[in-house]
Amino acid sequence: MSELSGLQIFKYLPAAKKAEHTNCKECGCPTCMAFGLKLAKHQVEIEKCPYAPKELIDLYNQNSIEPQKTVEICGVKVGGENVLFRHEKTFINRTAISVVIDTSKDDWKEKLDKVLNFEIKRVNEILKIDFVILKNYSGTLPNRTILYEDFLKLPLIKIENNDFKLVSQNLIKMREKAILEKDEKYSDPVYVYFKHTDDLDTLCAEASYYICKYANMLVFEDFDENLISVLLTLRQNIFTDPQKPLQVEPKLYEFNNPDENSIIFMTTNFALTYFAVANELESLSVPSYLLVVPSDGMSVLTAWSAEKFTTKIVAKTIEKFGLRDKVKTRKIIIPGLLAHMKEEMEEEIKDYKIIVGTINAYEISDFVKNLN
Ligand code: SF4
Repeated sequence: MSELSGLQIFKYLPAAKKAEHTNCKECGCPTCMAFGLKLAKHQVEIEKCPYAPKELIDLYNQNSIEPQKTVEICGVKVGGENVLFRHEKTFINRTAISVVIDTSKDDWKEKLDKVLNFEIKRVNEILKIDFVILKNYSGTLPNRTILYEDFLKLPLIKIENNDFKLVSQNLIKMREKAILEKDEKYSDPVYVYFKHTDDLDTLCAEASYYICKYANMLVFEDFDENLISVLLTLRQNIFTDPQKPLQVEPKLYEFNNPDENSIIFMTTNFALTYFAVANELESLSVPSYLLVVPSDGMSVLTAWSAEKFTTKIVAKTIEKFGLRDKVKTRKIIIPGLLAHMKEEMEEEIKDYKIIVGTINAYEISDFVKNLN
């Protein structure tokens, strides 16, 4: 059962039935339609309309039940999802990633330090293990740790990762039961527990699948930096809000102290594109500029096809950031995916020579070496 829309609610209200009290405003809204729209967004209480039929009240209350509970562990929220697919609205809480450390083992202190200090930086965000579960531990708990006994008391559903097909089927079934049927038996967040294995490749593939569908948390006995880096990266990509594209500020960025003769790159303001290019420019042996064109946070080809990256927008951006005054260079390197825009761009921005750059950011270094 999905959320009720404003229109679905409206059908039950007096205005839709041309009945008495139509648009009476007693609810504080100018019309029944306005009330229906607000109610769908939970911005008004259903009791505000004294003429809402019992059928609507029952349906609304049933739909308003949170399909999946949220559990907080060491300050990290787990669960609380209310859609099956990210594009329906958004996913709420990222799949938490945790490691179990048994303090009866000799090397537990080193392992704990390694896990707690592990971090990677990606798209301007520091990604870490969310928390550590300490087995056989007594004493003061370090930050981001929880006792195993306390963890077991949390309202969570555990699935052992011993049969990929079965686990994946169960995860899907449980999420569907929770979201579509609001079945209370499946309203607790679900985690998958991974016992020690030497086959980290398979573990990585399976864990990646569970991040996509539909584990609220993964708990590992193993800690491997490469494995966790892959999973944190994937998780960061999946748990973006489709209603808010990841974007950076459009402007002229500088790398390695450029001067008026430095090379100029250009791209869109989609954050993933920006950081992929920026990372490469930072590591170049030559200074450079990166002109980031406003494109509603869309990637290069998407922005072009949505007409958010046009020659006119580029020309305006050059103007806006005073590129001509700041940099003498009259060559701009555009993304390889926009090679077809070269002539059109040279026509629009007559004083600049347009150079077609690389399709992939990792090719930039070789491209620059061969530039002259
Ligand atoms: Fe319509 Fe009910 Fe609001 Fe009156 S109180 S305008 S009937 S929604």
